Amino acid sequence: MRKDEEKAAKKAAREEKRAEKRKRAMERHIVSCPHCGKEVLDHMTECPFCHGQLTPLGYGGRDEKKFKIARIVTYSVLFAIAIAVVVVMFVVAN
Ligand SMILES: [Zn+2]
Repeated sequence: MRKDEEKAAKKAAREEKRAEKRKRAMERHIVSCPHCGKEVLDHMTECPFCHGQLTPLGYGGRDEKKFKIARIVTYSVLFAIAIAVVVVMFVVAN
């Protein structure tokens, strides 16, 4: 029973740490709306409070390029792994 309690306490502490981390990550993306001054996230194109136009940061065209490169790299790695698996299977079969 005591062990279970300890485990639960540890888990709660971990969850708390994780929540704190998430909060900090979120705070980095909070900017104030130029129209009403309320806190909005930097990727939003429209303020949820005053519906004013916002200029999205962080997720702009630059990141789209990065995303494409990341996708190409991911596919290349997966392709290389697939080839390696086929080669290994061929070697094992012989
Ligand atoms: Zn606003």
